Amino acid sequence: MSPAPCCAAHPDVPAEGICGRCGGFFCPGCATWVLGAVYCAACAALPEVNYLEAFRQKLWGRRDTWAWFLGLGGLVTLAPGLTLLASGDALAGAFLLACSAVGVGSFFGQRWARAGLLALPVGLGVVGLALQEPLLVVPAPFFLGLGASVHQDPRHKLFHRVPVPDGVLLRLWNRHENNPLALVGLQLGLYGVFFPLFAPVALGLGLTALRRVNPEARPPIGRRGQALAATGLGAGAMLLWVWLWPRFTVLLGELLATG
Ligand SMILES: [Zn+2]
Ligand SMILES: [Zn+2]
Repeated sequence: MSPAPCCAAHPDVPAEGICGRCGGFFCPGCATWVLGAVYCAACAALPEVNYLEAFRQKLWGRRDTWAWFLGLGGLVTLAPGLTLLASGDALAGAFLLACSAVGVGSFFGQRWARAGLLALPVGLGVVGLALQEPLLVVPAPFFLGLGASVHQDPRHKLFHRVPVPDGVLLRLWNRHENNPLALVGLQLGLYGVFFPLFAPVALGLGLTALRRVNPEARPPIGRRGQALAATGLGAGAMLLWVWLWPRFTVLLGELLATG
């Protein structure tokens, strides 16, 4: 009888299974589940295995587009706020200065500024109701909706170091990291129908993206359908322009001759 295999990290503990990446034996204490597959402890810690955690760490506390936009808005509203305050319009001036503070605070990742995204539109509506001013009340729900969508935006949450569920993070990863060439190729393929120069670029990007597709890899590389569409669209647009170009130049010549 051959001796039972033991864990690679704990030679005195009998093995429970084999790591899906390195093929080494692991014991129950070392077995680690990552995104639906089991690995040894060493492999589970690798960023390419736990790609979702690596993605989270990459964006954790990193400023997103909304933060820049809010920071810019904060700077833009500062001067009008001060002007209104100086001219005696205390309420409007104070409101604009509060907007400015929330914008600048958001840029610097302040938690109170994140709450301000919701508090400001509510304040606008309440003040509008108190003053019976429809110009303030009517846009308040719109701004509240906008503020809530930024408040709940997963990328903006990661900037504020607010935890995001794995499912939401996976969708974000899919949108930003999963074979982005396929998506760019598809967009350029659409442009290629109207502007011939884009067509060969779309074809090249589509073929490159298609070659990269590997759902078994860690991280998986998908978007096969979009890569195929980019390739087809790029090739189709090139054929269209090869057919169209001589007719186009003939037409242009005739127009110039008559003009
Ligand atoms: Zn392993
Ligand atoms: Zn072990």
